[in-house]
Amino acid sequence: MHITPDRLTDALREQGLRITAARRAVCAVIAARHGQHLTAATILEDAVTERGATVDQSTVYRTLDALEESGVLVHSHLGHGPAVYHLATEARHQHVVCRRCGATEEIEAGDVAEWIARLRETTGFVVDPTHFAVTGLCPDCANRD
Ligand SMILES: [Zn+2]
Ligand SMILES: [Zn+2]
Ligand SMILES: [Zn+2]
Repeated sequence: MHITPDRLTDALREQGLRITAARRAVCAVIAARHGQHLTAATILEDAVTERGATVDQSTVYRTLDALEESGVLVHSHLGHGPAVYHLATEARHQHVVCRRCGATEEIEAGDVAEWIARLRETTGFVVDPTHFAVTGLCPDCANRD
């Protein structure tokens, strides 16, 4: 689903943030590249190099936090590295990550629905499967053993 930078700056405004050139650049990067798994560092770098913004790390994090609080952005952890950000408008998906080579695949949240329902029955927990990735070995690495 397509989202405009304006939709993101509106969300920031609703969170009480002033819309500065730096925040506008962060929103532009996210809107343009949301199909990718963007880290805060990548967003910062692209805001500077592609958008010519003067922006520091704390501004990027504050902007990302505000977008998450407003519900338009979510983050996931793919492994030991930093969190990656997705727009909440994208289909919720679970990640499988190869612990050896880092290869990443997306699986539909629906694919783990049965497991989640069973967990709820047995433990009472309401599980969000999309926050952390499932790790293992990709086909290539598994075959190399
Ligand atoms: Zn993803
Ligand atoms: Zn987290
Ligand atoms: Zn692998």
